[in-house]
Amino acid sequence: MSEASTPSTVAKKKAKPARKAVEAVKTGAVDKKTHLQKAIAKLGLHRDIDLALHLPLRYEDETRLTKLRDAREGDTVQIEGVVTNCEITYRPRRQLLVTLDDGSDTCTLRFFSFYPSQQKALAVGNVIRARGEVKGGFLGFTMMHPSFKTAGGDLATALTPVYPTVAGLPQGYLRKVVLGGLARADLSETMPAELVAIIFDGKSSAQIGVQPAYLLPEALSFLHHPTPDVSMLELEDRTHPAWQRLKIEELLAQQISQLQAKRERAALRAPVLASQGKNSLYEKLLGIIPFKLTSAQERVCGEITLDLARNIPMHRLLQGDVGSGKTVVAALAAAKCIDAGWQCALMAPTEILAEQHFRKLLSWLEPLGITTAWLTGSQKTKERREALALIASGEAALVVGTHAVIQEKVQFKNLALAIIDEQHRFGVAQRLALRSKMVADANLEPHLLMMTATPIPRTLAMSYYADLDVSTIDELPPGRTPIVTKVVNDARRDEVIERIRSQLAEGRQIYWVCPLIEESEALDLTNATETHEQLCAALGDVQLKDGQPIMVGLLHSRMPVAEKKAVMSLFTAGHMQVLVSTTVIEVGVDVPNASLMVIEHAERFGLSQLHQLRGRVGRGAAASVCVLLYSTGDATRLGETARARLKAMVETNDGFEIARRDLEIRGPGEFLGARQSGAALLRFADLATDVELLEGARQLAPIMLDKYPELAQKHVHRWLGEKAEYLKA
Ligand code: ADP
Ligand code: MG
Repeated sequence: MSEASTPSTVAKKKAKPARKAVEAVKTGAVDKKTHLQKAIAKLGLHRDIDLALHLPLRYEDETRLTKLRDAREGDTVQIEGVVTNCEITYRPRRQLLVTLDDGSDTCTLRFFSFYPSQQKALAVGNVIRARGEVKGGFLGFTMMHPSFKTAGGDLATALTPVYPTVAGLPQGYLRKVVLGGLARADLSETMPAELVAIIFDGKSSAQIGVQPAYLLPEALSFLHHPTPDVSMLELEDRTHPAWQRLKIEELLAQQISQLQAKRERAALRAPVLASQGKNSLYEKLLGIIPFKLTSAQERVCGEITLDLARNIPMHRLLQGDVGSGKTVVAALAAAKCIDAGWQCALMAPTEILAEQHFRKLLSWLEPLGITTAWLTGSQKTKERREALALIASGEAALVVGTHAVIQEKVQFKNLALAIIDEQHRFGVAQRLALRSKMVADANLEPHLLMMTATPIPRTLAMSYYADLDVSTIDELPPGRTPIVTKVVNDARRDEVIERIRSQLAEGRQIYWVCPLIEESEALDLTNATETHEQLCAALGDVQLKDGQPIMVGLLHSRMPVAEKKAVMSLFTAGHMQVLVSTTVIEVGVDVPNASLMVIEHAERFGLSQLHQLRGRVGRGAAASVCVLLYSTGDATRLGETARARLKAMVETNDGFEIARRDLEIRGPGEFLGARQSGAALLRFADLATDVELLEGARQLAPIMLDKYPELAQKHVHRWLGEKAEYLKA
């Protein structure tokens, strides 16, 4: 009923000559239709089954009428009565006030926005049915912006579903489309009775309290239109047996598809990459790096070495907190590959980071006689052509670069190992592209090593990355002092600038990061530029030991690449003391002398991002500080999640704990960057609460694949459609 009162998108049409007007109306109708279709596609609802699986967010109870006498404050109820008063008042602001009398009491309906047609429908004497939340109070019952329609008509027999929707797609329309999809969809059983019994009647069902009552069609029609006697709590927290049925189906689809990917990969062959002896590049490299590996680094190198020595493609995630020393592990893996006579590619998400890797690897490997090629989007044509030639001929044993590495033109002679740094920064699609592009040989697949500073919590690893092996560097190199994190109100900015002065006096370097404002890159820029100017002014009098003035640099994404590089290398070399930047420095930048990180508008950053940024300091022996400046704007308080993020930052430096809390705050979909890929991967099951169901699905997946391969395929297709490919990335 809400359509009647929600101001819908009423197209305003200007007066036009008659013939044109007719055409306009026609195209208008067509536009509207395609618009609705587009909106439905945007929700990912392409097939009948997708519609059937598009489940309500919540329900409205329109199955009964409540007498005002029986209504309690805060209840959402439906009432029916006669309008006894309808007027517009202007104090405190323009509003429509309607008094409804249902015989037991009266209620004031209050509208701040309304159309003349709605005002007419609410004229004195009309009998209407209204639905909304009742507020009590001194002057009797009120409802703010209730939905309403003319009284009479049958009451609903089931709860009315409210579906997740997007702008411009009215509930009423979506309901009809979903209902149609539900009626047409093939919902035949894909889970054999034997398996249903394992899950629903076996031991696990006692643990999880699942009743076997629901088959898929029943579960779906129930969830779309539950009978009014259902426990709302069970519906809302999704513990109702109908929900359980859907969750297990969803998890099963995911587990089958993961297992399948794992088996497919195990059937592939990869080059064996082994090296031996004192004269191997691996040993030589170990000899020239200026430090001793930590025991965690040694352990993960061992794990990678074992993988590379097998003829099955490695599919390994190397996770280690920021600053734990993943780069050298990557370099050693590359050395193994080169020792065996094959090429290795290292890809990083930003040019700055890629270049930093390139320099570091170049400094280690060039003296050992290894040619390294550099590939990036901003390269000059000539330079690029030369790099491509080196790669194609195999002369370049190592290729370092950005996304440019996976472009079509790049032809490797014999690629055997691909390393992706900060893998979470790459979309799922890009990771897929990498795998498909980097086939070394018609019959051989390259080994894949992904690196991340954002560790994956266990439940996610179990469900999303079932076919991924994980190595963890759980130890920082010696001699690091833990970073102290402080949350400071922006009103105390001056004190922060004082702190910068004292750090400068000690010869330290400082990062100052300004946020990315999503809606506007221009605003983003202003922010960084203004801060840069402010710091230049505030620190203009500071001198270095040799009497030279200090240098305050600015780095942002709109700068030409050459300029970015120039600024970055000044800072890296220590000639520049303060670097104001947008989040371009987020990942991987390594300047051990930097000891103070100020993050402006820290409340706007995600938790993992804050942790990544903080990881830019604390890389040397000096005690480092991270200042999270927050600004509460015009009297609006810090949001609850922003507060939780800042609190987590102060309380822990441990990347695993940060990841766990991030998952808690954001939920798994966002955590995985699923939004990036446009597809939330798990819709119904919740990895925080449905661990038992997940375990159950894990048991069933191999049985399905081995005993009922056709049903398994049908099941995966039903649930995942094209998304199945994403899960394999
Ligand atoms: P991340 O894991 O964040 O990529 P890096 O590989 O950039 O970390 O390493 C961080 C810093 O620690 C670098 O300056 C690196 O040279 C140094 N480092 C790495 N391993 C060790 C070690 N075993 N001992 C001392 N310093 C190390
Ligand atoms: Mg790194």
